[in-house]
Amino acid sequence: MKQEVTYDDAAEVEVIKGHPHGDVTRVAQDPGAPADGMGCHSGAKLEEAARLAGKSEVLDKFKADYPMGPHDKPQSMCPAFGSLRVGLRMKRVATVLSGSACCVYGLTFVSHFYGARRSVGYVPFNSETLVTGKLFEDIRESVHELADPDRYDAIVVTNLCVPTASGVPLRLLPKEINGVRIVGIDVPGFGVPTHAEAKDVLAGAMLNYARAEVEAGPVAAPVGGKSTRPTVALLGEMFPADPMMIGQMLAPMGLAAGPVLPCREWRELYAALDCSVVGAIHPFYVDTVREFKAAGRPVVGSAPVGHDGTAAWLKAIGEAHGVSAKEIAAAQNAVLPAIRGALAATPIKGTITLSGYEGSELLVARLLIESGAEVPYVGTACAKSAWSADDAAWLEAKGVKVTYRASLEDDCAAMEAIQPDLAIGTTPVVQKAKELGVPGLYFTNLISARPLMGVAGAGSLAEVINAAIANKGRMDRMKAFFEDVGHADTAGVWEGAPNLRPDFRAQHQKKLDKQKRAAEAARMI
Ligand code: SF4
Repeated sequence: MKQEVTYDDAAEVEVIKGHPHGDVTRVAQDPGAPADGMGCHSGAKLEEAARLAGKSEVLDKFKADYPMGPHDKPQSMCPAFGSLRVGLRMKRVATVLSGSACCVYGLTFVSHFYGARRSVGYVPFNSETLVTGKLFEDIRESVHELADPDRYDAIVVTNLCVPTASGVPLRLLPKEINGVRIVGIDVPGFGVPTHAEAKDVLAGAMLNYARAEVEAGPVAAPVGGKSTRPTVALLGEMFPADPMMIGQMLAPMGLAAGPVLPCREWRELYAALDCSVVGAIHPFYVDTVREFKAAGRPVVGSAPVGHDGTAAWLKAIGEAHGVSAKEIAAAQNAVLPAIRGALAATPIKGTITLSGYEGSELLVARLLIESGAEVPYVGTACAKSAWSADDAAWLEAKGVKVTYRASLEDDCAAMEAIQPDLAIGTTPVVQKAKELGVPGLYFTNLISARPLMGVAGAGSLAEVINAAIANKGRMDRMKAFFEDVGHADTAGVWEGAPNLRPDFRAQHQKKLDKQKRAAEAARMI
């Protein structure tokens, strides 16, 4: 008789054995490893360990779905924040992280900073539980404890960098416990380049699960009931009024706005799969689109932003659904004059550089240009995508330089070269712009969190952008006041001039060069 009392038969499954070199602790001990051992910047080493530990399949999928650009490591916040946020925004979904304590601390801090109202579960580990496989047992135990069907529809377990590199096999977790779905995902910073694409990892995994449920038999109807009209599922987080605006624009074609993915509760996934057309508003949902295509749904890129964008999007959606040219024209005529009027009533004057990692950068740039702004450069941290190809073509036809997978260096170089009236970008770009006396706006908080679609979007950016551009005089005064403070040897508050010792510096540099040469020689042996 079997002696051990277990929750399920996961322990019986044959575990893929990692080569001893797959042991991630070896990475930390490598003399060539960076001082932070296994942090965000040891990507190549962790990837090597993950492949040796049996994670090649998932890493190859990431490589195909999210091709790397000039940079192969996160240049913004930890990518796992994207998938964490998607899970935390869903009702009746529990989230469990498995990763280094410092990563989990950072991720939970940012989650609560952005208003998460749910707890983040954490399964801690040490080097022993990591290499002996006890961590997986601990995760399995925590999932069993958490799986209360009265409280949860699903539990999402996420492997961060170190457990992924160690091959912690989340795929061996039970698919369901007491009716609670278990979704295990790997979201390593060395495989998923941006937090935008990490949203796709979880959204795609959940849609895949829901699709299998739909194929297996009847599923729960949406809380608000089934739409009486065919729907357009919308891919990408957007301002809450945007789906309503889109719904109004679709009505003349006999269509309704369907659920927005990433969604707020599990049964919305079924409603999304039941749509007639998918609008890939944000272009980076590669895995999620794959699931929609497997369900036989046509996918349309871009979004109804500004005059030209709205006209083209309504036409593409109508054609994908087989709507007559007359109905498409009726939908366009119902909204385009109002958009033209709103754009003309709220002009934006000035040169703007724009960069970000949300995936909506190209859409915002279209809106700015139609509002009258000059936008010579748009950088997005996301990869080139078929779903933003029309936006890129439209922008390039207006003389805009569009850079996909733009690095921080690309964005800063563009801003410094152009010296715009306003730099919209990520925190370091805005910081650099302000140092140069150029007004700056943070894309994530101040631009992407505004309505962009239809008539509401047409006038929504002008106020904040014109106010920022008008701040140039204040930026110049601040620049003159703070000039040279915070740079190199003058950083900080000094009573007198800093006591510079270039000879010490040269000596120390020699020592560092020697150490580097010795490490390179040791690696060759
Ligand atoms: S989990 Fe995130 S914060 Fe931690 S090492 Fe990986 S990329 Fe960096």
